[in-house]
Amino acid sequence: MKALVWQGVNRVGIENVPDPQILQPTDAIVKITSTAICGSDLHLLDGYVPTMMHGDILGHEFMGEIVDVGKDVRNVRVGDRVIVPFPISCGSCWYCTHDESSLCDNSNPNAKNAEALWGHSPAGIYGYSHITGGYSGGQAQYARTVFADSNLFKVPSHLTDDQVLFLTDILPTGYMGAEQANIEPGDVVAVWGCGPVGQFVIRSAFLLGAGRVIAIDRFAERLAMAEAAGAEALNYEKVDVFTSLKEMTAGRGPDSVIDAVGLEAHGQGLGGVYDAVKQTTRVAETERPHALRAAIQACRKGGTVSVPGVYGGLGDKIPMGAFMNKGLEMHSGQTHVHRYVKRLLNHIEEGRIHPEEIITHRLSLDEAPQGYQMFKKKHDGCVKVVLNPWA
Ligand code: NAD
Ligand code: ZN
Repeated sequence: MKALVWQGVNRVGIENVPDPQILQPTDAIVKITSTAICGSDLHLLDGYVPTMMHGDILGHEFMGEIVDVGKDVRNVRVGDRVIVPFPISCGSCWYCTHDESSLCDNSNPNAKNAEALWGHSPAGIYGYSHITGGYSGGQAQYARTVFADSNLFKVPSHLTDDQVLFLTDILPTGYMGAEQANIEPGDVVAVWGCGPVGQFVIRSAFLLGAGRVIAIDRFAERLAMAEAAGAEALNYEKVDVFTSLKEMTAGRGPDSVIDAVGLEAHGQGLGGVYDAVKQTTRVAETERPHALRAAIQACRKGGTVSVPGVYGGLGDKIPMGAFMNKGLEMHSGQTHVHRYVKRLLNHIEEGRIHPEEIITHRLSLDEAPQGYQMFKKKHDGCVKVVLNPWA
């Protein structure tokens, strides 16, 4: 089959690789109909995650049709159309039975190595390096999925791929990012980053009762998409965000601040792990504002900080003094996708959220390497790329 593989820092390409096989009785093989490129994939492209190997298949936002199942699979069958959450849940550990699937204790076969390297071990994630289990990803024609009974969600046939694909990651991620911001009715919420995750944070914040949402980025198309969802936009290259936010909130600052940027602000997404090492030695601000730093500083006293943006590796430069002295509350984490699938499917079916509206580019899998560059540089108005592995 064809698959998009990691070939080194800033290099991905299409290769012919063996079709995946059932290895465990709880596995299922999915023939992929739609698969997307995520901001988290850019961290791999940029080399921030040092356990990638040449030939690793990327992709953790995918869906399709089940074409084979292991002998112990009960809840799904061949022919079912399913979405595949990016974090892998065993369904039976303490975290999985407490609805915190992204903290699963059993889905990462490399957990011991992760702990030795990082001091903690993430759950298994598709297409996301060996430190999260070394699972092949879904930017391919087929994928082997594991613990099929607890990870494959059937989707209604009257909804299109475009409507349900983002249930695998960025829609629940945006929703959880907003939910963890403790939004009270009428609150002012500021969101750093208007990429796919930020877009769903904004829409979810309104669903959860925010009175005003202020969206911060520098790309006009992304800010316009945020405005179309009802947000007020601030371009951080044109205005002083800290001062503007104070002026917009009677001098207090927003009630909640949400970082939907993550690592991008560090090496500016260009230099990979080596840039990150350099960053740790710098005390002063870098050329670009650091989103989380700016968010903590702008938040009103007693407010809430929510961080769906991904951090890890080296040097996060968090102003812990401000965080501590302002008595802030911070929530973060990989998304417990499983917790939100049903609730969000309902919002989609009832027309309260339209996930497909953030898709700006549809490409074939063969075009994925160009898609990565376009999405990374935010060229051509690119907000979200969806790939068709069979075009
Ligand atoms: P993206 O790269 O498309 O979007 C990031 C946006 O942030 C860009 O539009 C960029 O211009 C903007 N930005 C950069 N620096 C900024 C600054 N200082 N102030 C304001 N805006 C700034 O990525 P995405 O797909 O939207 O993902 C965003 C983040 O969410 C990534 O870190 C990704 O890894 C993370 N993520 C987390 C989870 C989770 O489970 N928690 C899941 C998916 C993605
Ligand atoms: Zn993702």
